[in-house]
Amino acid sequence: MCTKVDNEEIIILSDDDDDEDDITCSEPSVLIVEVEDVKKNGTSCVCFAPTCLYVWVDDVINSHQLLFLSVSDCPLTSSALDEDLVVTFSRRAEVLPHARYDCPIHPFTATDDETIGPVAGNQLICDQCFCYICDKLASTCVMWFHRGVCHCNSHKRSMFWNNLRNGALLGELQSFNLTLSEMDAHLRLAETMLQRFKQELAARFSSFMEGKNLEEYGLSLPNQQAFIYDYTPVYELVSSFLDEADKQDGRAAAIMRLGATDYFIRHIQLSGNFILKSPMANVADAKVVLLQRVISSMQRQMVTADFTTEFSFKLQDFYKKLLFPSELKSLRNSLCVRPWDDVLLVSVLKGQNVSGVRKDKGKKDILTEQISIVLLRTEVLQQQRRYRELCRYLRVVLADDSNLLQQVRDLIPFFLCMEGDFTSALHSLFTSVSAPASRFTPPLFHFYLSIFETATAPKLVVSQPAQLCYSNAAWEPIKGAVPLPRDVQVKFALRVQRCCSAVFTDSQCWTTLLTVVNAPRGSLTAIPAPSPQFLHEAKNVVNSILPKEPSSNIQIPRFFQEVYPDQALLLLVTGALGLRILNSALSPALPVLNTFKENVWALEWLWDSLSSSAERLSSFLQEVTQELENTTGSPEAVRLYFSQVLRCQLADSLSH
Ligand SMILES: [Zn+2]
Ligand SMILES: [Zn+2]
Repeated sequence: MCTKVDNEEIIILSDDDDDEDDITCSEPSVLIVEVEDVKKNGTSCVCFAPTCLYVWVDDVINSHQLLFLSVSDCPLTSSALDEDLVVTFSRRAEVLPHARYDCPIHPFTATDDETIGPVAGNQLICDQCFCYICDKLASTCVMWFHRGVCHCNSHKRSMFWNNLRNGALLGELQSFNLTLSEMDAHLRLAETMLQRFKQELAARFSSFMEGKNLEEYGLSLPNQQAFIYDYTPVYELVSSFLDEADKQDGRAAAIMRLGATDYFIRHIQLSGNFILKSPMANVADAKVVLLQRVISSMQRQMVTADFTTEFSFKLQDFYKKLLFPSELKSLRNSLCVRPWDDVLLVSVLKGQNVSGVRKDKGKKDILTEQISIVLLRTEVLQQQRRYRELCRYLRVVLADDSNLLQQVRDLIPFFLCMEGDFTSALHSLFTSVSAPASRFTPPLFHFYLSIFETATAPKLVVSQPAQLCYSNAAWEPIKGAVPLPRDVQVKFALRVQRCCSAVFTDSQCWTTLLTVVNAPRGSLTAIPAPSPQFLHEAKNVVNSILPKEPSSNIQIPRFFQEVYPDQALLLLVTGALGLRILNSALSPALPVLNTFKENVWALEWLWDSLSSSAERLSSFLQEVTQELENTTGSPEAVRLYFSQVLRCQLADSLSH
């Protein structure tokens, strides 16, 4: 069997697992030979021929026997490598711990499932014999030759004894279908805690079942023996156990949560008696709260913990088999969560599937998930900065809550920004029937404008757009992104104003946008006035540029920006402001008008464009005058300036 001896290599001489049906158990299961280097004739040389062989005998419960063999001591040439070994001397080594059926001292007689009493001499043990069931020294096994339940006949080739061993070693965890190889110290601890919890819970529940006299609650009912059934103490016990689970290692926590659920979900309310009105006094109500807590923790683990797919499926199976009362049946599938390596999910994330539907052998698989799972995946993918994949996922996934799904989908433009892809972000803000930009709030408008202006963004993990605006997170440069040109920022802003009335009507949004065009690149000096001809022609051009439809794009003709680029943009936004003022009252108007600062020519151009509706212009000027009188905050110089301008304009408009 051993044909090639390599330096330091371990050779398996024999493996009897496949070919032995009868078990005398005097045969070891695996033999491993270690080869040692030797020195010859004072010169150091590595001899490939072994001089001594240590033969290890290995069995399932990690017990070992060491046998020592001495091999012919004559110098061996390399040609001897292929020769059979000659054993000239052997002696039995120290006996290491072993399962009783592997005992080299006492012969073992195997039977299938004999528990009545010892078969032949199976009860005999040496001081290294282990009980196969208890996994401890046979001398300490209290069942060793206990009539009816004795362990001394146990061995690994019987289904009966293996099941018994699994039961003994897995305990409460057997119902999770776990194998011994999956067990670790954390799971053993979870098992112990579950057992203790089970006993405490039984005691607490039975005292609930007994009920309490009304008098204990300071109540009384004449001539009637009445009891109050208060589930609160049971609820509290389960809660504190779940708190305990939260502190444990991931797999142990999962086992504890589900194990506890298995117990409390069976609890029933006693009817026909008094129930306290306190929230957790009622069994059904308390169970819903507890179960939802378990589901929420478990779903988080299923998505965020690095459980193996096999372990996840075991948890899911266990959960599905719980005894759900009818009112909780709808939660039975709550833990059916696609693993991250699910074929459809992976193909969607990688961009190979853009429909979210997969046909497999005639069966249709649609990417539908619970909204809670969608939110968890959104969280994980943001943390891992996998924004591109996240967008692909959100575009196709279906969920049970369309409102929440809409909110998280509205974040796609933000995720594309974080990816550094402003072009796609802009596109996604306005495409689709319900464009995310149409649901903007003024703060959200400012948020995006800042991103486009600075190519920086706060590092956030969010699940709805509102969270973007109210965070204290520091803004950091977006990798690979450069600020958008000002004309693109302006086009973005004008499109938002066209499709979102909240932004269109908000005076602050106009102030922000006008600041961008009145002070290009933060300049404090006035923009020189363009030629009167340009100012005149600009009216028609601006009208043709401004979007007519909420969804239409904005094109700024190249010639318009050729000679007076800064002036052109300022007039474009001023034209839009004119339309805004004609539309309805703008309040407050002063901060908006203040943005024009020294660019009086643009303000005059505005009055001019407003003159098409003398009535509205007049009322607007009155609104502003009123505001001036009521405002104490604006600097005296500005107030004086506007007072002058307005008085002239007012007189002018009234004289028409
Ligand atoms: Zn023994
Ligand atoms: Zn035992």
